[in-house]
Amino acid sequence: MQPTLADILAAARVITGVADHTPLVPSPFLTAHTGHEVLLKLENIQPIGAFKLRGALNAVAALDGAQGVTCCSTGNHGRGVAYAAQQRGLRAVICMSNLVPEAKVNGIKALGAEVRICGSSQDEALAEAQRLVAEEGLTEISPFDDPHVIAGQGTIGLELLAARPDLRTLLIPLSGGGLAAGVALAARRISPDIRIIGLTMDRGAAMHDSLKAGHPVEVVERASLADSLGGGIGMDNKLSFAMCRDLLDDVILVSEAEIYHAMQALYYEDRIVAEGACVVGIAALLNGKVALDGPAATIITGRNMDMDMHARIMAGQDVTLGDLHLPGQVYKGTS
Ligand SMILES: *Cc1c(COP(=O)(O)O)cnc(C)c1O
Repeated sequence: MQPTLADILAAARVITGVADHTPLVPSPFLTAHTGHEVLLKLENIQPIGAFKLRGALNAVAALDGAQGVTCCSTGNHGRGVAYAAQQRGLRAVICMSNLVPEAKVNGIKALGAEVRICGSSQDEALAEAQRLVAEEGLTEISPFDDPHVIAGQGTIGLELLAARPDLRTLLIPLSGGGLAAGVALAARRISPDIRIIGLTMDRGAAMHDSLKAGHPVEVVERASLADSLGGGIGMDNKLSFAMCRDLLDDVILVSEAEIYHAMQALYYEDRIVAEGACVVGIAALLNGKVALDGPAATIITGRNMDMDMHARIMAGQDVTLGDLHLPGQVYKGTS
């Protein structure tokens, strides 16, 4: 069953005091660049460094008598589930591929969760989570295709529109679509005319390709600076595909070079340390891929990146990540 606005309002009560009301701050730089007010929703300052705590808290709170929880994750959902499980004294086993950066793995272990590294794709990690459900009686919490997770992420939409009912455009980083589905559901119900755009990298854009095909399709998972946006949407997707299809106005792709530059811009102009996944909206604005017609907001979704990699990019050095080779580029402003 698809979640409703009432479910998002209920989720807002569940997460109160732990994962709610992150600041919505202006970006003077993007405002000057686009000629319209651009606001940043700072989910990077959540207790786990990413918005996924909202959905994970809401999903774990809905469990009744679970023996423990498991999930597949590109890192941040696993950290949210680990945090929520630790609060409840539940066992948590987080399954991830070897594409997940070390910094994310360590953050999860620090919360007392067990970590399983399985193969080089989200599909392999999911297979392990499903084995744990069958053989060890754990409960799986999908990173994006779960009504409680979607409702939890949707609380960002409530907060955005409560703070700024005049927002005209939302730019939402998009992977499995739990974030976009939840935020778009809340935003559309409150402000029917708002324009909602999903953004993702052009290497392995599962939701983009699926929406184009009209049904979930498999993509080859590839290394990306936006590692949190990797992975498929599940061939048996139940909720997030249909919600993104029905609620998003558009999905726009950005390149790795555009992500590299947007990370530098966010750091040098707005002085924010954030993952590649967060800057896809900023990359689209800086490269003229989205035109604004009034106040806009994007979500700075997380900060759990490998800081050596961050330092390399800020210094304008070359980057090699799996089969991805990006030539360095020293930041010189955006004009
Ligand atoms: C999970 C994640 C996203 C994308 O969320 P989906 O619900 O999978 O679309 C974006 N940014 C970060 C940092 C994430 O961890």
